[in-house]
Amino acid sequence: MRVAHTTAEMRRQLKTLRGNNTIAFVPTMGCLHDGHISLIKEAKALADIVVVSIYVNPLQFGPNEDLETYPRPFERDAQMCEEAGVDFIFHPTSLYPKSGPKVTLKATKLSDCLCGSDRPGHFDGVVTVVNILFNIIRPDFAIFGEKDWQQLAIIRRMVNDLQIPIEIIGVNIVREADGLAMSSRNRYLSETDRQQALALSQALIAMQTLAAQGENNIETLKAAAQEILTAANITTQYLDVRNATSLKSKRKLNHLSSRAFIAAQVGSARLIDNMPLTYTPLEPTS
Ligand code: AMP
Repeated sequence: MRVAHTTAEMRRQLKTLRGNNTIAFVPTMGCLHDGHISLIKEAKALADIVVVSIYVNPLQFGPNEDLETYPRPFERDAQMCEEAGVDFIFHPTSLYPKSGPKVTLKATKLSDCLCGSDRPGHFDGVVTVVNILFNIIRPDFAIFGEKDWQQLAIIRRMVNDLQIPIEIIGVNIVREADGLAMSSRNRYLSETDRQQALALSQALIAMQTLAAQGENNIETLKAAAQEILTAANITTQYLDVRNATSLKSKRKLNHLSSRAFIAAQVGSARLIDNMPLTYTPLEPTS
């Protein structure tokens, strides 16, 4: 495994190896866990060369967010990548000019809800950095987690709208045994916070169960989830059900695929989670 710390070095290394090889790319902010490793496994199954980037992108953090304190255990991350069979780590010091970028991308429609409402400018930072990384790595495949469903939906639109010739692959959320979605920010949770945080996946499962039983009224689903969250003393930033692709609001579940989303501050961690809702219409009784 090789590590490149600058764009020039990364480009040079890939130039000599690219040839007819396919490249799968996994962008991360480091502090790797099994969720990231499942993306790497998918990348290895898809392509000849796997590149993982580790970069805490300042452009996607708001002024009062955790940019400074975001964990950066690089040695441990590198060891995990090595064990997972990664070929290259791209670990740049910075990806922007010293005076800051003067040209950036904007994620319009899909970013005006969910995390986009709570974190203004966040997805503009994401699409800008992912574009820069795509331009440096020029992969055939890029792998993203469904944990950040809205990000995945926006990236899919980005490659579509900007005609970027990269196949975007989404990978299922990896969870702890008790249901908590793995996240680098779970490190911020105390033992009490950790117990409280379980209510997020439990609330989503309650919505899934009701939907599978034939409940299609989204207010009813949300009320069931809210009850679990309130009992755990969790105040949500959002609790919502939307069309899985367009992210448009819905009032009833229907044949179009729907997804339930939650974001909440638990202790000092802002946590997000989501699950698909499959509505099973009840058989008419004769
Ligand atoms: P991050 O390092 O948090 O920016 O995440 C890098 C990539 O890993 C993103 O595509 C995330 O969606 C994905 N990811 C993070 N947590 C998980 C998880 N628990 N399961 C699957 N993918 C994840």
